[in-house]
Amino acid sequence: MRKPIIVGNWKMNKTIAEAVAFIDAVDGVCHDGATYGVGAPFLALAESVKHANHLIVAAENCHFEDSGAFTGEVSVPMLEEIGVKWCIIGHSERREMFGDTDETVNKKAKRLIQAGITPIVCIGESEAQYDAGESEAVIRSQLSGSLADLCADCVKDIVIAYEPIWAIGTGKSASVEIAQQCCHIVRDQIEKMYGKEAAEAVRVQYGGSVKPENIVEYMAQPDIDGALIGGASLKVDSFTDIINKTQ
Ligand code: PEP
Repeated sequence: MRKPIIVGNWKMNKTIAEAVAFIDAVDGVCHDGATYGVGAPFLALAESVKHANHLIVAAENCHFEDSGAFTGEVSVPMLEEIGVKWCIIGHSERREMFGDTDETVNKKAKRLIQAGITPIVCIGESEAQYDAGESEAVIRSQLSGSLADLCADCVKDIVIAYEPIWAIGTGKSASVEIAQQCCHIVRDQIEKMYGKEAAEAVRVQYGGSVKPENIVEYMAQPDIDGALIGGASLKVDSFTDIINKTQ
C-alpha cells in the first residue's frame, strides 16, 4: 500500500516570514494518512524546517557537487546541515530555463540518495511533444536518463512527479485518463529498469494545474499516488482544502 504524497512547489515565492506563517497555519491540519509537504526557496528552508512538525519541507533544487566554483548554487551537504530531507529535482522550469538535463538530474539524484535526502524527480513532455504523440517516448527516455544506475532498493523510496509542461501553471490540467495513463507508463518504465518490487513501491505524483476542485479525481486513479502542486499551494485556504479533500 503506497502512502499518498501531496507536495506544494512554491517556486520563487514566499519570503522567510511568509513561509513560516504558511507552515504555522497548515502544519496542524495535516493527518497521518498521507505525506504533505512544501517545496520552499533556499532562503526559507532553514526556518521552514524548524516550524514544520507534520509537513515535509523540500528544497526545489541542489547542485551535485559538494563545494567549489559554482556561483549561486547550493550543495547537498548545505541542505543536510539545515535538516532538509527532501529535494525536488529536474522541474521543467529548471530544465527549460537553467540547463538541467537528464544527466545532471541523475547526478543530483545520486548525491541526494547518498545523503539520505529523498529526491522528487520531475519529468514530463512539452506541448509540441504531446501534440506529436511523443509523450510515452519522452517519459521513458527522461526516466532512463534521470534514474540511471541507482540501486533498486533506493528507487523504492524516491518520488516521481509526472508533470506535462503544457499543464503547468496554465489552468489546462491533463484529463484524468491521460494523467493515469502517463503515470502508469512511469511505473512500467520503473519496472523495466528496476523490477516489479521497485515499481510497486515507488510513489508517482501527477502535477499540472491541480487544485481543490480536481484533486479527488486524480487521487482515485490506481497509478497516481499524489500531486505536485504549484499555484494552489501558495494560499493557506486552497492547500488546506486539498489536505481536507485527501483525508
Ligand atoms: C508545478 O509547479 O510543478 C506545477 C504543477 O504548477 P501548477 O500546479 O501551478 O500547474
